[in-house]
Amino acid sequence: MKYCPECGNKLIDAIVDETKVRKCNNCGYVDWGNLINVAAVVVAFNDKNEFLMVSLKGREKGKLTFPGGYRNIGETIEEAAIREFYEETGMRVTDLELYKFFTKDEQRLLWVVYRGVLPKEIKFVDNNETEEIYLVSKDHRIDESKLRGLLTKQVYLEILKWFFS
Ligand SMILES: [Zn+2]
Repeated sequence: MKYCPECGNKLIDAIVDETKVRKCNNCGYVDWGNLINVAAVVVAFNDKNEFLMVSLKGREKGKLTFPGGYRNIGETIEEAAIREFYEETGMRVTDLELYKFFTKDEQRLLWVVYRGVLPKEIKFVDNNETEEIYLVSKDHRIDESKLRGLLTKQVYLEILKWFFS
């Protein structure tokens, strides 16, 4: 950050609590450099222990990931998870349970990953973001070279490992 979000003054390099930070000499604001973007992500299962993944449209066409996205101001993270899941699949996921957090420093990104339950009837609704859904399990694996990025791969591998243990 270059300028103070509180008063607009230029921030300067400083040391606080033995940590390199940017500081505002006018109002005392400290930029710890740890601001993060929060995304809610859902791994939703059916009663056969298969979980749902989506393939993307647009810039990352064909890439595979889990439904999810950024939290809007005013939403809880769980509400964001349910909304994003609905937008990307047309289905209502239920029984959300917090699974784990994943971080990616380069993107200042935090993934809050939930496990959830798919509706009885699996019915994909076409939308702007995803082109298809896949049900994945240890017996029905996907082409891992198409996984969208590091976090997707991390979650995918952990979920599969969890099946085997
Ligand atoms: Zn300031």
